[in-house]
Amino acid sequence: MALNINIPGYPDMIIQYLVLDLNGTIASKGEIKESTVRLINALSRHLQVFVLTADTFGKAGEICQGINAEVTIIEKGREKEAKGDFVSKLGKQGTIALGNGMNDELMLEQSVLGITVMGEEGCSTRALKKADVLVKDIDDALEMIMNPDILKATLRS
Ligand SMILES: [Mg+2]
Repeated sequence: MALNINIPGYPDMIIQYLVLDLNGTIASKGEIKESTVRLINALSRHLQVFVLTADTFGKAGEICQGINAEVTIIEKGREKEAKGDFVSKLGKQGTIALGNGMNDELMLEQSVLGITVMGEEGCSTRALKKADVLVKDIDDALEMIMNPDILKATLRS
């Protein structure tokens, strides 16, 4: 299972893992849109998908019910480091990360391709600085991964 993404100016990527922040990234106001569920599940046929969350509201399991992903609850109080470590362990070269918050800064940096999502909740400018791409909506990010030609047009040097 892998997706090959080749963008001029970037190393050729063989992506195996997709790491997603939950609140503000794939979920807005505690819910994942139907279209987002469909896109994540389509990508899960090519990539192993992880959702990382501190699960502040204790609802992660319920929110993520319909998606084909492994939900990992990370340590509260050191979310940023825990998310960065998680991606480092998977391996930078094979991982795409999506996040919107300041605590996503390190995982965006640690992944070969970091995408920050503005969504309805906005994104941290610190996270943005570590990302390769900013999109307005989570579905745009997931479609980009499905259709790397869109990514290529945005990122090529
Ligand atoms: Mg977030």
